[in-house]
Amino acid sequence: MGLETDLISEKQLEPDPGVLYIVGTPIGNLEDFSPRAKNILSKVAIIACEDTRHSGRLFKKFKINASLVSFHKYNIQSKIPKLLEALEKGKTLALVSDAGLPSISDPGEELVAASRNGGHKVICIPGPCAAMTALVSSGLPTQRFCFEGFLPSKPKLRNSLLKTIAQEKRTTIIYEAPHRLIRLLKELSLLCGEDRAIQVARELTKKHEEQIGPTISDALKYFDKNKPRGEFTLVLGGATTEGIKTKSDKELIEALEKLIAKGVSKNVAAKEIATKTGYPKNYLYSLIHK
Ligand code: SAM
Repeated sequence: MGLETDLISEKQLEPDPGVLYIVGTPIGNLEDFSPRAKNILSKVAIIACEDTRHSGRLFKKFKINASLVSFHKYNIQSKIPKLLEALEKGKTLALVSDAGLPSISDPGEELVAASRNGGHKVICIPGPCAAMTALVSSGLPTQRFCFEGFLPSKPKLRNSLLKTIAQEKRTTIIYEAPHRLIRLLKELSLLCGEDRAIQVARELTKKHEEQIGPTISDALKYFDKNKPRGEFTLVLGGATTEGIKTKSDKELIEALEKLIAKGVSKNVAAKEIATKTGYPKNYLYSLIHK
């Protein structure tokens, strides 16, 4: 009884003027739109949206009539002063992204930092997040984990980050687009070995939700037969202590070339260095051909 009264009175007080509300929205299932999120969004004067048309469709369903302002990665710097001005005037303001939590591989962090620097309170109305949803349903260790979001596409940056991820002992969460999923799985297979634990979460919270694993080779076999469609979040198991490798590509190539110069075949050289260093044989073989 007491708790219920508290919740009702708190709900009636929100939103406070001059506060920036960061509001989580569903990542698929509209039932995940929380009553508190809907209440705030239906009462604020302005909602900054990653895509006003996309969020407009969601808001129409829930009779949310605030004034929508576009706030996406290409206009962040020009929009922040205007949004801060609204907060200074005591307007009620919320930020949403297309889906999930703003600021998680979505616009938000710059506005939050600028609001805080400007002395404004920031309150997050928590909601679904693909990364956390995938992690807790993966069965992989959750005590310590890291989040990489989307990996960079520039080859040098990408390769060096992939190598770091392969060595990471904690569970790693990665976002990937469907048309790049197989390429990423192949890259991970090469660097982590095909037996590394993985759960590929597809279409979380939606009708066709599924988890594909438990190893990289199982996921690759599955996607060989089933074209990747929908939204994907990868949860990669951490490297075991024995799997931690410390050699640079240059050192590995030198070791391989030494053996090859002695007349050992490329295949046998890759196998031998794999046994000595713990790097997957296929990865070493690919270095020879670089
Ligand atoms: N801010 C969002 C969040 O809190 O999860 C993430 C936005 S990011 C631009 C979009 C990526 O999140 C997708 O490309 C996909 O990798 C992942 N994602 C979003 N919804 C998902 C879902 N229903 N199932 C699996 N992954 C999802």
